[in-house]
Amino acid sequence: MTDETKTPDKFTIINELARRRCFFWQSYKIYGGVSGFVTYGFLGAKLKQNIEKKVRELFVNKLGILEIESPIITPSKVFEASGHVDHFKEPMVECMKCKRRFRADHLLEEFAEISSLEAEKLSLEEVKEAIEKHEIRCSECEGTFGEPKYFLTMFKTTIGPYSEAVGYGRPEAAQGIFVEFRRLYEMAREKLPFGVMQIGHVLRNEISPRQGLIRSREFTIIDLEFFFDPEKPNCYLLKDYENETLPLVLAENKLRGSEEIVEVTVRDALEKGYIKAEWQSVFMVLAKKLLVDLGVPTEKQRFIEKLPWEKAHYALQSFDQEIYVERWGWIEVSGHAYRTDYDLKRHMQFSGIDMRVFKEYEKPVEKEQTVVKPLMVRLGPVFKEEAAKVAKMLSEADPEEVEASIRKNGSFTLGKYRITPEYVEITRSNVKELGKRFIPYVVEPSFGSDRMVYVALEYAYRVKDDRVILSFPRDIAPLQVGVYTLVSKDGLPERALQVYRMLINEGFSVEYDEAGSIGRRYARADEIGMPLGITVDYETLKDNTITIRDRDSWKQVRCRIEDLPELLRKYFRWKADFNDLGEPFES
Ligand code: AMP
Repeated sequence: MTDETKTPDKFTIINELARRRCFFWQSYKIYGGVSGFVTYGFLGAKLKQNIEKKVRELFVNKLGILEIESPIITPSKVFEASGHVDHFKEPMVECMKCKRRFRADHLLEEFAEISSLEAEKLSLEEVKEAIEKHEIRCSECEGTFGEPKYFLTMFKTTIGPYSEAVGYGRPEAAQGIFVEFRRLYEMAREKLPFGVMQIGHVLRNEISPRQGLIRSREFTIIDLEFFFDPEKPNCYLLKDYENETLPLVLAENKLRGSEEIVEVTVRDALEKGYIKAEWQSVFMVLAKKLLVDLGVPTEKQRFIEKLPWEKAHYALQSFDQEIYVERWGWIEVSGHAYRTDYDLKRHMQFSGIDMRVFKEYEKPVEKEQTVVKPLMVRLGPVFKEEAAKVAKMLSEADPEEVEASIRKNGSFTLGKYRITPEYVEITRSNVKELGKRFIPYVVEPSFGSDRMVYVALEYAYRVKDDRVILSFPRDIAPLQVGVYTLVSKDGLPERALQVYRMLINEGFSVEYDEAGSIGRRYARADEIGMPLGITVDYETLKDNTITIRDRDSWKQVRCRIEDLPELLRKYFRWKADFNDLGEPFES
């Protein structure tokens, strides 16, 4: 078969359909288009909003997670503290001839059959050797590659007209939550556990994005940071979910070269130590259910554990929720990272602001305590205007840690400051401790909205009698109901418009269409995934009844117009089936 006669795969079909039917397309096309940027049309925007609405229902409405919105542009300090400035980079090579740049690890996967596992582990030197050994050439012009380098994939900018005020486009929304922790903790009435979520755009300057919605340079992330007391890590929702199963691919199996899926209950996964945090296991189950609700069956999902060198720098344990898609195989739709106290601790070190929370003991504890007293007379001459800040940070640091570090290393590191023994007086005193301060731990589920849009489209796509149907789950379909006339005369359009307006006023998303034959209108409705079609015919004028057509079965039922709002409300809330909407009707 030649390339032209090959049936296009689903990725090609979905992208073509998406462009033709106004779901989404590549941005800036009038200037040739720019890879990695996508514009959503009204159907795609609505589909994405509906998916995000489901996420909000799940986390904000049902679990009481607090939703916030923070800026995209972030001062460099934040990403220095979070570790992104040092770690958010990818290996890259440039073609010496045509100057195109490629992600080196992706080239090795594609042309040297080096697994992503192995590729991610390689140093720049090893990447270079592997490229030479496998004689990998530029796919555009057959040129050879220069020295591999790291490329920082954050977009860099300056804030205002000051070149020294460096800022970055956030590559994740999580830091916008961590930096506001103190205020958010107050908002949560100073009680743990609590969660904060935000849905917003993030920027990642991907080296060569060629996967449409799956890998863009600007996309929507849903980051949920869930804070809990590490001494009380129990999840009060566990009893509701412990018997649910999770399809896990464990790191220990990956190390043996196997991607075998082990299907385990949440309870077993925790008992066997496969998942380290109870809250994380529950978020993983919720993520699985969410994707089922978006139309992806469980057997097309897996949670793959990341190996130490694949994990983000902040994670103690990480699983990626992956979905199987036809062109790309397994792709990540959400990441589940156990971030511990990493981020809050780093922001505490870098900003000097205390990120700890106070926990009162049931009864006070008598104990001998180490007291670290900053000596201003010594700090002043050396640290000058920063001396007061250093003293404050010192008084907020854990005295035991300060003493131990000074004893062991001769100094204590406080963010960028090095504290040596002459700056402090260390004494002991007996105190009654009422409670203690600690930094909460965090588990994070992080979803990509755009990838969820893509998988929802791929799993909704089917063909029946040569006609394309997007069988979206009814509650995420961009448009819910189409209103049609059997013919465009004899007062039928006027009656249909009344039905249309009534349904709009009842809060449904409705489209009125009287262009072309009824068959063509149904076909178009199926192709954009509209679950129901209401047709006004001559009977309507006599008895105020209409027909309702089901997108998936093409069956029709007949019911009274006045019953429509209630029936449709039930239907779209999954409280009624199609057959409950009226009497069977043969046209
Ligand atoms: P990460 O922080 O890399 O785990 O990303 C969180 C989520 O964002 C992933 O699970 C993906 O769903 C999504 N994501 C990551 N990178 C991209 C990208 N370049 N384009 C679209 N979605 C992405």
